[in-house]
Amino acid sequence: MKKIPAIGILGGTFNPIHFGHLRMAEELSEALNFDEVRFIPSANPPHKPAPAVSAEHRAAMVKLAIASNSTFKFDGRELARTGASYTFDTLSSLREELGTHASITLLMGNDAFTKLNTWHRWEELLNLCHICLVARPHGASKKAEGLSKALESYRQAHYTENSGDLLEQACGCITMQKTTSLDISSTAIRHALRNKHSVRYLLPDALLEYMKLHQLYYV
Ligand code: ATP
Ligand code: MG
Repeated sequence: MKKIPAIGILGGTFNPIHFGHLRMAEELSEALNFDEVRFIPSANPPHKPAPAVSAEHRAAMVKLAIASNSTFKFDGRELARTGASYTFDTLSSLREELGTHASITLLMGNDAFTKLNTWHRWEELLNLCHICLVARPHGASKKAEGLSKALESYRQAHYTENSGDLLEQACGCITMQKTTSLDISSTAIRHALRNKHSVRYLLPDALLEYMKLHQLYYV
């Protein structure tokens, strides 16, 4: 049986992108049999203060970081829109592009999932995509314990243990995958750079050069 096209979506502020993002995308791409993973930087994240580093620089770093992986694709659709970058709008436009039969899976750390019920039109997201959750080590997973009742029942109602379900239908499932736990965050990287500490081996070398060249993050 020919499988339906399967696309993973990783949205984020990517301020900057790091090996936590890249390794998670690589492992999920393999486990869930994605034809491609789209990296979609957020221009104006609705739930965060505006990043000091411009969307153009964050996007350029994403492009550099994924250049050598033919399954990873840069998707700049949130950069082209004005106003807040809502995932609901992004998924709607991806559906228009990819059609109703493609399987689209939103990849997210459990820290992002705990706040899902504050997202624009969050209860309709599963009409457009699946969600695959991964655990984040350290502080992020502590926060996940405090899942709201609404989110807990939402997760239970849509949960599947069988990741194969995500390749049989276009949307509607929530699943969880184990990935190598990398305790890396953009916040910690920015903090280290501000304090003139090394961030080598937390993100690709090419990004260090890019940051130096453009004098980002006080490098
Ligand atoms: P910040 O500290 O600025 O919030 P971040 O490292 O959390 O940055 P984001 O751009 O906010 O990165 O994350 C985008 C997505 O990637 C989110 O779903 C987040 O949970 C996930 N993610 C980020 N870092 C990791 C990691 N180390 N392991 C697994 N998932 C991660
Ligand atoms: Mg984050």
